[in-house]
Amino acid sequence: MSKTEVGVTLVDRGAVAGQNTSLAASLFTQARSKAHHVPLVKETYHAIAELETLMNEKLGVQKIGTVHIASSVASTESQNELVTIANAHHLAVEDAPDSSIEEWFPWLDRTKIQKAILFPADIYVDSTVLTRAYVDGAKANGARLLPSTNVEKIVIKNNQVRAIETEFGTLECDAVVDAAGCWSNLISAPVGFQLPMAPVRSLYWITEQDKQLFPPNQPVCIMPDAKAYTRPEHGALLFGIRDSNCLSVKPQLLPNSMHDIKLVTDMEQFDILEQDGKPLERLFPELYSVGIKHVVSGLSSYTIDGEFVIGESSSVKGLFAATGCSGAGVATSGGIGRLISELVNDELPFTDISRFKPDRSSEDVFTDSFIRKCALMRSGKKDG
Ligand SMILES: Cc1cc2nc3c(=O)[nH]c(=O)nc-3n(C[C@H](O)[C@H](O)[C@H](O)COP(=O)(O)OP(=O)(O)OC[C@H]3O[C@@H](n4cnc5c(N)ncnc54)[C@H](O)[C@@H]3O)c2cc1C
Repeated sequence: MSKTEVGVTLVDRGAVAGQNTSLAASLFTQARSKAHHVPLVKETYHAIAELETLMNEKLGVQKIGTVHIASSVASTESQNELVTIANAHHLAVEDAPDSSIEEWFPWLDRTKIQKAILFPADIYVDSTVLTRAYVDGAKANGARLLPSTNVEKIVIKNNQVRAIETEFGTLECDAVVDAAGCWSNLISAPVGFQLPMAPVRSLYWITEQDKQLFPPNQPVCIMPDAKAYTRPEHGALLFGIRDSNCLSVKPQLLPNSMHDIKLVTDMEQFDILEQDGKPLERLFPELYSVGIKHVVSGLSSYTIDGEFVIGESSSVKGLFAATGCSGAGVATSGGIGRLISELVNDELPFTDISRFKPDRSSEDVFTDSFIRKCALMRSGKKDG
């Protein structure tokens, strides 16, 4: 957006990338079972290349690839569908050779694999590094950054956005994009723009270092039958499991910063591993004997349908949302950014956004039942 004539001010009450983005596992899986999400991820890849050129600096991109493992008939069929989607979007995909699987994933029980496919072009970039590069790129194109500034209210007159009120005063504008992550509804709902999403906990674990068992050159591994994924982490293994009872938080109970909230206790994370890690243990027999060094938890804003919340309010001109990222906000960030730029500039979106409409649900987003349904969406998530 900052590339156009529109003046852009980015307001954040903290430091940019200081909240949930900094906690992401940073999977940039291009092949998605929701085929319409693929163009958004591809756009992130374009944005990364563009930022590196613009800033004349490297973002530490590693082309590590992603392997999808099917260990049941159902996930073998889903994998075939994924290949069809990949081909339609011109994503490189190939069968992962058994010898490579053995070399990359010594921790994986290969006898359980029915089919394994490799997306060799998938990358890893640190989510905080990428977000800061977005900000630097935007600033280079004329955007202004206002950190440590709390947005208190959106001002609307005659169904048109007129300003935002911050803790330091009023900022006049005719378009506002609410991209406040899990806090978005605290800004938009008071002006009647309820966004169909709720804050839901995500968590992953990082093992002790063991370069024999976890070779640093291994690709990301997606295991739908275990609702799990792994990524190499400096000779250790980062692994995430979608727990069956995902914690969800009422937006009005959120503290202003993730630093002030403890989402999981030590005891609870062991219980989750014990209860929901069994399907992963089937593929990773040493799961319960490797040492765990860290557990990382944060909040993603999930929707009931797993779609994003991107678009303009149908009743207030100039009021936009770019949120509800359903656990994929880093991977799809380039696409979300481009869509918002196009919408604010009244241009045709580069891809179909009909499923992302902010006003697609009539449910009250603050009710327990709605919030629970959003958590269930994450519990059921199988791919990257
Ligand atoms: C454990 C975990 C693992 C994840 N792994 C992945 C992954 O591998 N790949 C992937 O694509 N996604 C992943 N995600 C999801 C991803 O992190 C999110 O989709 C993404 O970070 C959302 O970005 P955001 O900017 O919307 O939210 P945030 O990063 O939380 O940023 C919201 C910002 O809004 C600001 N803000 C809020 N209220 C106000 C206010 N009133 N005034 C001013 N500023 C305000 C906050 O200060 C904050 O900086 C993961 C998430 C978690 C928690």
